[in-house]
Amino acid sequence: MSDKIENVIIIGSGPAGYTAAIYTARANLNPLMFEGYMSGGQLMTTTDVENFPGFPEGIMGPDLMMKLKEQTERFGTRVVTRDVTSVDFSQRPFKVEVEGEVHLAHSVIISTGATAKLMGLESEKRLMGHGVSACATCDGAFFREKEVCIVGGGDSALEEANFLTRFASKVYVIHRRDKLRASKIMQDRAIENPKIDFIWDTVIEEIIGDKKVSAVRLKNLKTGETHEMPMDGVFVAIGHRPNTELFKDYLETDEVGYLKVDGASSRTNLPGVFAAGDVHDPNYRQAITAAGSGCKAAIDAERYLESLGH
Ligand code: NAP
Repeated sequence: MSDKIENVIIIGSGPAGYTAAIYTARANLNPLMFEGYMSGGQLMTTTDVENFPGFPEGIMGPDLMMKLKEQTERFGTRVVTRDVTSVDFSQRPFKVEVEGEVHLAHSVIISTGATAKLMGLESEKRLMGHGVSACATCDGAFFREKEVCIVGGGDSALEEANFLTRFASKVYVIHRRDKLRASKIMQDRAIENPKIDFIWDTVIEEIIGDKKVSAVRLKNLKTGETHEMPMDGVFVAIGHRPNTELFKDYLETDEVGYLKVDGASSRTNLPGVFAAGDVHDPNYRQAITAAGSGCKAAIDAERYLESLGH
């Protein structure tokens, strides 16, 4: 264990973590960031990002993450491509363990993100970014006048189905039951939308396509029957899982596992520990809102350290 006590350790990357790093580095806090082996977060699995301000031509998700990383390093952030394996927030300074190596810090910013749940099909993984997407807001515009389906029966699935009708000629909602989980208002909106059709009691057994999606094989769970249906895109909206496993003994979460923060700040229940990005945000989940919250976490950490006299 090194005796050095860091001002701030940032756990996780993506737009929230990199932005927190840019701000803390520019505030001369000399941040140490563990970006993780899967650095860059969910944007690493997207193609064109057309809604991040400042890129009128759009930018590929991985390129945007590379640029943010370069920007953090330009101001001296030490970016380490390793996973944090455990933390001990029961004492101060906080302990952050990385594969057996312990680092100490006065403050910690958590930006470990959330992971979109997937159906678990091999074809879903293989065609991700080639017709399969877990983010309608990110990828919907690539399906103009195409037929797409969305899997799920919750608010996300119906919200995204409605959003997709701006582009797609037809949106099929494929739900494993015959009752939706979504709120009444979202249900009404989707049912009234003439471009949306529901396929009940059904799951996708296989996504068909070599280089891109061309069809899906559906299975009716009540009758056991299967059939193929031509399809240009498959959106998966069966929920997200916040990556908070490491912190559950120390930090308050909501019932799903998202970190709780104090009002509009980034402060968790533990002074000195801050949350940024999807790890505390089940609502917006956008690159730009994550970046904004990374900025907030950095400023909150800076003020906290100042209050300690650092
Ligand atoms: P959710 O409410 O947990 O719904 C997930 C849906 O996916 C459920 O219908 C579930 O089916 C289905 N599902 C889960 N695993 C599946 C699998 N392996 N294969 C097929 N289907 C599967 O998740 P969410 O829709 O992302 O919403 C999360 C939270 O955010 C909710 O509290 C929601 O109200 C909120 N939210 C609100 C808004 C809004 O108000 N505008 C928008 C988005 C999200 P079952 O129903 O059979 O379990």
